[in-house]
Amino acid sequence: MKAKIISVGDELLIGKTVNTNLTLISKELRSIGIEVNSASSVKDQEEAIFKTLKNSDESLVIFTGGLGPTRDDITKETVCKYYNLDLELNHETLTRIKNFFAKQNREMKDTNKKQAYFPKNAIVLSNNYGTAPGAIIQVDGKTVVMLPGPPSELIPMFRFVKDYLIERSDTTIYQSGYLVAGIGESEMESKMDCVYEKHPEVQIAPYADIASIQYIFTSSNSKALERALDHFRKLFSEYIVGPYDKTLETRVVETLMAQNKTISFAESCTGGLLAAYLVNVPNVSKVFNESYVLYSNGSKIKQLGINQMIIDKFGAVSKQCVYELAYQLAQRTDTDIVLSVSGIAGPSGGTAVKPVGTVYFGLHHEGKTKTYSKIFAGDRNLIRKKATIYGLYLVLKALLHEDHHS
Ligand code: AMP
Ligand code: MG
Repeated sequence: MKAKIISVGDELLIGKTVNTNLTLISKELRSIGIEVNSASSVKDQEEAIFKTLKNSDESLVIFTGGLGPTRDDITKETVCKYYNLDLELNHETLTRIKNFFAKQNREMKDTNKKQAYFPKNAIVLSNNYGTAPGAIIQVDGKTVVMLPGPPSELIPMFRFVKDYLIERSDTTIYQSGYLVAGIGESEMESKMDCVYEKHPEVQIAPYADIASIQYIFTSSNSKALERALDHFRKLFSEYIVGPYDKTLETRVVETLMAQNKTISFAESCTGGLLAAYLVNVPNVSKVFNESYVLYSNGSKIKQLGINQMIIDKFGAVSKQCVYELAYQLAQRTDTDIVLSVSGIAGPSGGTAVKPVGTVYFGLHHEGKTKTYSKIFAGDRNLIRKKATIYGLYLVLKALLHEDHHS
């Protein structure tokens, strides 16, 4: 199956919006073995959309943009006019849109009503993050998909489209993969060449997040997929934190639950982010005791009794300080694993010995306290987020007794 992606929106052609939807959809389609044959960006204009459709001989056409309530958004109406499809009011969708507004104590405007009209046999894709539903229609021997422009709405909706395409594919597509952390994307990619080369039947797509990367493997050959996964596991076991479709914080919480253990944090530069990440996971109260945000030197001394001399001699950003923070918190609380973190998030405060991005971690587990350090690149927020992910990575590896030495 070959695909065409048509991005509709004036904003794409005046240099206002980067066409990230194209990159995302191309990557996703490739991962399920669908080749993107062509792509075009067009204005919100009937004639432009007609012209592109006339030039589309691909069996899958995906539109993004132009599904909003305003007059300029005409993608759905234009596509239906092109294929001679009548639009009918879809009552269920109208109710959904009304509810979307009601939840925010707003009343739906008449202009939104047009968003509830679809051709008779369309599969309507509901949108939980905006008012514009999408659609999949079968027409003229093609599958035509329409999705809204905002990526925050398109991304969750595209998951449904992907499942739809996998289900209807004439070859079975197998998908699996891993989440890795504790290693940067470029270092990982420089070691991946042999995996890419050795498994040509397997599509391997990395999706990098702040400090973790999902590696998604897809293939129509299940044995080839297993071989590629084995190869990957052998090379990167140190960095694998779980299956690709789980977050690191979920893995930490489920491992704590399985081991019947509890966790506490002493946070300096992360300023509560470790706690914020962990409480993303439902039922975390079973394993999460507390997190202290000990930002000033005074609070480290007052709350956990850190010796002033340690701060004077080595600094608050030092392995001696994080050691004490983790050790003291473990003594004061009845917690199985304690992580402390202190670093220089910048933009100021760096030195030649401890540049901006230097972060120390202290980890107390099974009666021992260990320290780790890392230098992260990025601005203040990025450094804090990277430190959080790396801290959770250290916790998981310690729980699994796969200690990482750095
Ligand atoms: P829509 O109302 O569905 O036309 O979407 C409008 C908004 O979605 C625009 O203001 C952009 O911010 C965003 N958008 C539209 N097309 C794209 C695209 N191809 N890539 C990324 N963002 C887009
Ligand atoms: Mg638009």
